[in-house]
Amino acid sequence: MTDRAQRAPLEELWRRYDRYRGRFVLAIVLSTINKIADVVPELLIGAAVDVVVRGDGSFVADVLGVESRFAQLGWLAAINALVWVVESLSQYLAAVAWRGLAQSVEHDLRVEAYDHAQRLSTTWHESRPQGATLATINDDVNQLERFLDLGAPALLQTVLNVLLVGAVFAAASWQLLVLAFLPIPLIVLGSLWFQRRLEPLYAAVRQRVADLSGLIAANLGGISTIKAFTAECRERARVEAASVAYRQANVDAIRTSAAFVPLVRMAILAGFTCTLLFGGWATLEGELEVGLYSVLVFMTQRLLWPLTEVAEMLDLYQRGRASTARILALLDEPVTVPAGRVRLAGPVAGRLELTGVRAGYADGPDVLHDVDLVVPAGETHAIVGPTGAGKSTLLRLMLRFDDPRSGRVSLDGTDLRELRWESLRGSIGYVAQEVFLFAGTIAENIAYGRPGASAEQIRRAARHAAADDFIEALPDGYDTWVGERGVTLSGGQRQRLALARALLRDPAVLILDEATSAVDNETEAAIQRSLRIATRDRTAIMVAHRLSTVRHADRIWVLDAGRIVESGTHDELVAADGAYASLWRVQTGESRPGTPDA
Ligand code: ADP
Repeated sequence: MTDRAQRAPLEELWRRYDRYRGRFVLAIVLSTINKIADVVPELLIGAAVDVVVRGDGSFVADVLGVESRFAQLGWLAAINALVWVVESLSQYLAAVAWRGLAQSVEHDLRVEAYDHAQRLSTTWHESRPQGATLATINDDVNQLERFLDLGAPALLQTVLNVLLVGAVFAAASWQLLVLAFLPIPLIVLGSLWFQRRLEPLYAAVRQRVADLSGLIAANLGGISTIKAFTAECRERARVEAASVAYRQANVDAIRTSAAFVPLVRMAILAGFTCTLLFGGWATLEGELEVGLYSVLVFMTQRLLWPLTEVAEMLDLYQRGRASTARILALLDEPVTVPAGRVRLAGPVAGRLELTGVRAGYADGPDVLHDVDLVVPAGETHAIVGPTGAGKSTLLRLMLRFDDPRSGRVSLDGTDLRELRWESLRGSIGYVAQEVFLFAGTIAENIAYGRPGASAEQIRRAARHAAADDFIEALPDGYDTWVGERGVTLSGGQRQRLALARALLRDPAVLILDEATSAVDNETEAAIQRSLRIATRDRTAIMVAHRLSTVRHADRIWVLDAGRIVESGTHDELVAADGAYASLWRVQTGESRPGTPDA
């Protein structure tokens, strides 16, 4: 399926979106009516010339049976007016139809692609370059919309134009048909050649503009560092250089693309001259009616001019195709961590167990080796160890962001792979290292996992997370707006909000990844006191660097290079005089630090 989507993306789109076929056909019909109505007035001009030249014997006199030339012209004027009304109306309806179709497909694809991306594993997201998924959901979907809105109708109209005008020429004289159509292959081949030359030039323009905006975005993000190191001049020069490169790329592209239309004009001139001369001679010889001759002279221009846009249409087509291929590739990306079907019978006790777990990332080596770990319901356990030991990886398995390569992770005895997301993640409150705040008020951010929570419930959760005091001190209290990234709050404040958010869900299991690393000692003590109450009747698993944070845990697991090397209570581990004891000595200053990390 993926293969087919990549080879013929637009066909695949047609297959998937069968609900739009009716609207697509309607748009084609409207465009066709519009094109026919567009060509007819020219034929009417020819008929009018014919009336003036031939009078009684004119084509109109034959068809309508009207003798007076004035009456014939009157009829022609009336028909012409009617055709113009049809043309205007069909143009309007066709534009609405194409635009509506493009917008609907764009909307559906965007939502579908976003929803699918949401279901893909965190590992998948982390393994893609930042912004790639965003570019597909935004830019690629827009590109397809542009093709459907502009490219497809233009292409259709050009083809119809060639067919209709061709029919008129064919009816008049096949020699003229051949002469007038001679430049077409030339123009189309020329367009293809131009497009191929232009492609790398446009690619360079896009690359340069991406470089430029990337550089500016990075610089604005790091503005304080630039100022601190008085690097303004240097950075200005870098931005200037990137801007010059962008300008140059544009100049190169325009130099080539601007040459195209004048060249096509030459081809048109050839076709035009042929019709003018040979058609004129034929008329003088009496082989062609004067009216028809005048029609053909007009028609040659009409036939060839729209072909100047062939290159642009092909460009839209190719971009639309490439974008569709990328969107379909995203939609076809398999969900590697799919939801299970089992619903845990409530209330969830919160017993977590890992047996023989081996885990790693993508094709990389194992990060966890044969880990056995049990957290009985209601206990507070800690996981400690040096940076890179695999603590976060372990937590990710408990939340089922990833599945283990072998072994089993279970909640209340059920393998996580079998659980529905509500049963698994609905039972877990998670505070990540990097706290994400949504654009909205503080209250909304705390209530993120429980949107219907009352003000009092939000306040209680904040108190348990030692966040109430600082929130009350803010100008709008709980209604204070935190920006997209919550930039107005300190790291410690953000951590406390995240903790309140997790506690408000009243989860059976609380998972804290370095949840108090960014707060001062005093605040940490306050959080610890609250946490002791909050975790009294729930399971808690915390990763912490500062061992003082976890010394009261029911059990501490010491992880080193992906293996559990020790476990026990604080006192037991200190008495055992192993890895934990030496970490503890380092942190309490009883011995000199061995490694900066420990
Ligand atoms: P800790 O939390 O103890 O510092 P981690 O679980 O973050 O340790 O990391 C354990 C190992 O896994 C490290 O070697 C790290 O480089 C690797 N690792 C962590 N996250 C990823 C990832 N997303 N992709 C690949 N490797 C990763």
